[in-house]
Amino acid sequence: MLKEKEIKMLQKKLLDIREKVGEELNELEKDIMNKSLKEASGELSSYSIHFADLGSDASERDTEIEAMETERNIVEKIDEALKRIEEGTYGICQACGNEIPLSRLRAVPYANLCKECKVKEEKSA
Ligand SMILES: [Zn+2]
Repeated sequence: MLKEKEIKMLQKKLLDIREKVGEELNELEKDIMNKSLKEASGELSSYSIHFADLGSDASERDTEIEAMETERNIVEKIDEALKRIEEGTYGICQACGNEIPLSRLRAVPYANLCKECKVKEEKSA
């Protein structure tokens, strides 16, 4: 079982990541909105020179939208993890019920599956 001290530490980490990801999410949203506005007013060509080495504007925006979805996903997972801390089920694999090793939680504090189940999930996805 996780010690209270460890849970506290991981909870703090979760909140830190949540804040950081939330900021990044805001930036991405602003960026995408700006680009859409510039695109509409025909200003995009001058703006995109800066990003020329990243590929076309369209694929760049796709990448940003993808990144946004990934980050939204992380925020969701963090919220779920924080809820599990309150419920006392944090650190337990939601698929097999085994404890998730502390080393894994330290690396990915919002993990809801143990490594084995995560691999299985990725294979089936
Ligand atoms: Zn598992």
